[in-house]
Amino acid sequence: MEERINEREIICVICPNSCRLTVWRDKEGELHIKGNQCPRGLTYGESEYTNPVRMLITTMRIEGATLPVIPVRSVEPIPKQHLLRSIKVVNDVVCQAPIKMGDVLIKNILGTGIDVIASRSMDTFEGTSKRIHRYNKNDLNETIFHTLVDTFYGGNTQISAEDRLKIEEAEKIIINRLKKFGLQTE
Ligand code: SF4
Repeated sequence: MEERINEREIICVICPNSCRLTVWRDKEGELHIKGNQCPRGLTYGESEYTNPVRMLITTMRIEGATLPVIPVRSVEPIPKQHLLRSIKVVNDVVCQAPIKMGDVLIKNILGTGIDVIASRSMDTFEGTSKRIHRYNKNDLNETIFHTLVDTFYGGNTQISAEDRLKIEEAEKIIINRLKKFGLQTE
């Protein structure tokens, strides 16, 4: 039987089939891959064996915003060996509100040539406060709704129907709690 050098098992994650790939080099250094059901598995197996990469997805501390942290991600996958050190670099940085989705927060992280960007927009605390002042003081439901939208969606009212339902459910719970404390809203 041929000699298999550095044989490894790799699960292909390109599609739900999750093929179990066996990858190794022969004595001449040529790469061999078995177990793939389609050519995409060959590309994935080779890349994962020779230069595995991962998306960096984490959060960064932010000052002056409605929330203490903002979700961030790398523009493209970065070499796996840089992943942990990259997360530490992100942890050491504090960005300043306001931030727009896609803003570059760290350029060329660890010399990889890959930038880290904001995954969402986040307004300043002052900006949010100004919006709250525009709410109808006689309509507590509306005020609660906008406060929740500001807190969880950065003030963006163009949210999906599913998220709107979640907000309305939360709104009902808050109103019911207020009633239990003897605070009537209507
Ligand atoms: S080898 Fe092809 S069929 Fe198998 S998991 Fe990968 S992409 Fe899917």
